[in-house]
Amino acid sequence: MEKIKINDTYLILKKGDITEEDTEAIVNAANSSCMGGGGVDGAIHSKGGHKILEECKEIRRKQYPNGLPTGEAVITTGGNLKAKYVIHTVGPICLEGKLTLEKKELLRRAYWNSLKLAKEEGIKTVSFPSISTGAYSCPVYKSAKTALETVIDFIKKEDFLKEIKFVLFTDDTYKEYSKALKELLNER
Ligand code: ADP
Repeated sequence: MEKIKINDTYLILKKGDITEEDTEAIVNAANSSCMGGGGVDGAIHSKGGHKILEECKEIRRKQYPNGLPTGEAVITTGGNLKAKYVIHTVGPICLEGKLTLEKKELLRRAYWNSLKLAKEEGIKTVSFPSISTGAYSCPVYKSAKTALETVIDFIKKEDFLKEIKFVLFTDDTYKEYSKALKELLNER
């Protein structure tokens, strides 16, 4: 685990399963249907239970009949999870594994809008998975840099959250995030 403090916010990297986290909110790397899927999305829906799906259906009906756009975020309760809320966001799909400038901006928006929504809801502790680096094929190291950069920018601009965690599922993902954080801190 790695833990650093920026202003009044702790930024933590850890290896683990996000469905076990007890932060107030966990973020779901959802797809635009918001109806569940594979990877972390599937794990969150299966452990959180049908309540999350019901709320997602309601959001689709009322707010996003054509699906949740990439980079946007919505919130449901956490159902049977320890986390009280799930923030569902959609990251970009990286064709041929390339994080182009356009995809990078969309990834940035997914992290930023998740944190913005957390703040609006008065949530002070949030856990993120590594958005877009599984089925959506974005390269881990570059995506990690974008993720960490965005979160650090948010902390510096919006002094509200107490703790932001990245809960990384594999050793490799953890190592890449750790390397990206070191590099970012050296650059700053
Ligand atoms: P995406 O479609 O956004 O790429 P995926 O769920 O396929 O989303 O993968 C995103 C990341 O989530 C991958 O690094 C994957 O290893 C990780 N992951 C899968 N299950 C979990 C889990 N239970 N907790 C945390 N991370 C997970």
